[in-house]
Amino acid sequence: MTRPARVVIDLAAGRANLQRVKEYAPNQKIMAIIKADAYGHGLERVAKVFDQADAFGVACFEEALRLREAGVTKTIVLLEGFFSEQELNQLAALNIQTVIHQLKQLEWLEQLSAAKAINAWLKIDTGMHRLGFDPEQVESVYSRLKSASGVNDHIHLMTHFASAEEPSILQQLTLFTSTTSKLEGTHCLANSGAIIDRPDAHGDWVRPGLMLYGISPFADRTASELGLTPIMSLKSELISVKHAQKGERVGYGGTWECPEDMQIGVVAMGYGDGYPRHAMSGTPMLINGNTAKLIGRPSMDMLTVDLRECPDAKIGDDVLLWGQELPVEEIARCADTIPYELLCGMRMRARFVEING
Ligand SMILES: *Cc1c(COP(=O)(O)O)cnc(C)c1O
Repeated sequence: MTRPARVVIDLAAGRANLQRVKEYAPNQKIMAIIKADAYGHGLERVAKVFDQADAFGVACFEEALRLREAGVTKTIVLLEGFFSEQELNQLAALNIQTVIHQLKQLEWLEQLSAAKAINAWLKIDTGMHRLGFDPEQVESVYSRLKSASGVNDHIHLMTHFASAEEPSILQQLTLFTSTTSKLEGTHCLANSGAIIDRPDAHGDWVRPGLMLYGISPFADRTASELGLTPIMSLKSELISVKHAQKGERVGYGGTWECPEDMQIGVVAMGYGDGYPRHAMSGTPMLINGNTAKLIGRPSMDMLTVDLRECPDAKIGDDVLLWGQELPVEEIARCADTIPYELLCGMRMRARFVEING
């Protein structure tokens, strides 16, 4: 028998989420963001699911190369740009486009021959203070890009929001608009939060990530309220059921004490599989559809569960750690993290199973 821990990927949910993005941003082109191994869902797999997108955004050259090797012909954009001159020299032949966010990249680009010309996405730092040129630098960088023979004529103008909330987003949007007012080029600004809440920030291209995977970018609205369906379900089975007595302690460090005589269960799932070790006692899971609570610290391959509310639970029963009936957003809150981190933590770990292909 195989170990029952597995990640189930619902391909139809992915296609429906992309459709939902198109409803939120009907007049925009869509750059589906599939960095970090497609938020832990598997790069090549997800590229197929999102083949109706207009482009893919990835973090680095290695990810772009994996896509080309898998036969993906769609436009690919490097969100952090190229890291070396050697990478830059390979972009044109592979039809990979790149963000330009700092002067060293610009200098390398100016050395590039016209035969290897590439498409550039000029990144402007409008307030997040991560990547991008300062607004004062933008005019000069833009004209240097325009005159570089290794850069194709059309320049994309881009920024990234630190938050989808006021006043921060409005300040960033205003600064972007004033910085780019005299420059020709398509605008690319919004990630999931702004796609849903800020039609005024849609520009020409949108860059959805989280929402494509069926997760809500907001603390106060669920994915289902937004018309999104999680692609990923984390599943396993009960591998042990036993009786424990009042006062007995459970797990490493004995952080949880049985308040009465009770049944406890063990699930084949742990932090080695990507389940968060910091999930608190009380974090929910579903056993045969009934809510049960995590007790004690998750260990590497196993975790323990309070079976008082699942009196019929037995070895071999299905356990859902997160998925369509139990949002990963809720598990993230119980582990003091964000859903992005939990999804990315799945990459290359558990066994993946695809459904609804
Ligand atoms: C990750 C990323 C996105 C997608 O953000 P979500 O919040 O997941 O929608 C968009 N743009 C850039 C530059 C990113 O790094």
